[in-house]
Order: sequence, then structure tokens, then C-alpha cells
Amino acid sequence: ILELKHAKKSFDGVEVLKDIDLSVSEGQVVSIIGPSGSGKSTLLRCATFLETLDDGSLSYQGQEVVHSENGRAVYGNKAQIKQAMGSFGLVFQNFNLFPHFSVLKNITDAPIRVQKRPKEQVEAEARELLKKMGLADRADAYPCQLSGGQQQRVSIARALALKPAILFFDEPTSALDPELTLEILKVIKELAAEKMTMVIVTHEMNFAKDVSDRMIFMDKGLIVEETTPELLFKSENQRTREFLGKYH
Ligand code: ATP
Ligand code: MG
Repeated sequence: ILELKHAKKSFDGVEVLKDIDLSVSEGQVVSIIGPSGSGKSTLLRCATFLETLDDGSLSYQGQEVVHSENGRAVYGNKAQIKQAMGSFGLVFQNFNLFPHFSVLKNITDAPIRVQKRPKEQVEAEARELLKKMGLADRADAYPCQLSGGQQQRVSIARALALKPAILFFDEPTSALDPELTLEILKVIKELAAEKMTMVIVTHEMNFAKDVSDRMIFMDKGLIVEETTPELLFKSENQRTREFLGKYH
């Protein structure tokens, strides 16, 4: 579904991504772990057009939208990028809900306005998603009236309402206290059980071990190791062991 190759990105002359590959097939859950500043968010942002690549290639569902030419990333036209952007959803650390929209409107706005789908159908689906997130009775509430965990569940519902082929999470629980973290991790596990394709940046090691088909350990803009959770947690690599050791 997603294929990012030889991704390179610098900020002010500092190389933050140094030749990164990320490929995700349908139904897979891939998590990305690594120390602060290792480039995890930059990798997600480059894969989702929030940041432009300096070099590398990027394909969604077999369509190449960015290719590498003479050491530079060349982006396709607007229509191609729009199509690629339609194939994924994003969930951030800080929920990013629209404060002046109700819960229901937060979820239905983009499907109605951007995807131009019929209002009744979108609203019915949104209520179904809210039910699944355990928020059936909060459709008319405003984000400020919800707990952090509830807000994050709304933002997951909002991402799912766009029917993405792949869902990206950037530290979805790091703004939440432990109890609320668990409720979000449970929702993500349910999505994994339904074979939702997901890429998850997280510091929740036990969760990542549980939910992932593959794990990527990044350090200083490089992929140190990419393997199954079982093998990663048994890794002989010194950097990997040092990093994982901090979580025991
Ligand atoms: P964390 O676990 O703290 O979220 P991370 O692995 O997500 O870290 P990134 O946010 O990708 O790390 O940042 C990698 C490096 O790139 C950092 O040194 C950061 O300061 C730098 N960086 C990221 N975005 C920008 C930007 N827009 N402008 C300048 N430097 C940036
Ligand atoms: Mg980050």
C-alpha cells in the first residue's frame, strides 16, 4: 500500500532522515520506535506530505507520486498528490479537533465537504463510528467538554470516516494519562484485529510488541533494525538493547 524509498530530509543543513525505506502492505501494522529527535515524526510527515522530501520516492497503492531524479525528490501533479492524500488518515498526539465544531461535525465535515459524499450517509456512518468508540451519546458535545481520551477517540473516528487505506498515528497516547492511554491502545488493537493497515509511532513498548507485525527502530535518522517484535526484543544490537533497556 505504501512504499517510501531512500527518503532523505535535512533541516538547516542537518540530515534528519538519512536514506530511510518504509514499506507497508495491506493489513499490516508497523510501529516505529526510537529516541527523541531520531526522526520518527519527520518520517511520518514526509510520508504524508506535511513535509517535502529532499530526495527519495513515494508510492501509494502502486502509484508513484514522488520519484527521485538526479538526487532530488520530484513531486507529481496536484491531482496525483490529492489522490495519494485521500488514501491515508492521520492521528496526532494533540488530537487537533476543531474546537468550534461539535463532535459529529468534526467527523463529518471532511467527508461531506472534501469527499462530497451525501450528508445523511456520512452522518449515519459517523454515528456508527462513535458507537464503536464508545461515544454514541457525545455526538453533540464540543471537544472542550470531553476528556483527552474521548477527544482522541473522536480524532480516530474522524480519520476513519474518510475510509483511509492506511492510518498513521504519531504518539497517539503521549498527551494522555495512563488510564486514558489504555482506552486508546484498546481502540487501536481493535482496529488491528479488523486488519486495518496502520503505521504507529509510539513509546508504548508493550503495546507495540503486542500489536505490530513489524517494528522499526530508528536512531539519528537511520533505521537501525527492522524486524518482528519477537526478534527486536531479543536483539543483539547494542543500540537497540540500550534503547529498549530504558523501558524495563
Ligand atoms: P520525538 O520522539 O521527540 O517526537 P522524533 O523522533 O519524532 O522525536 P523529529 O520530530 O522527527 O523526531 O525530529 C528530528 C530532528 O529534526 C530533531 O532534531 C528536530 O529538532 C528536527 N526538526 C524536526 N522538524 C523540524 C523543522 N520543521 N525545522 C527544523 N528542524 C526540525
Ligand atoms: Mg515525534
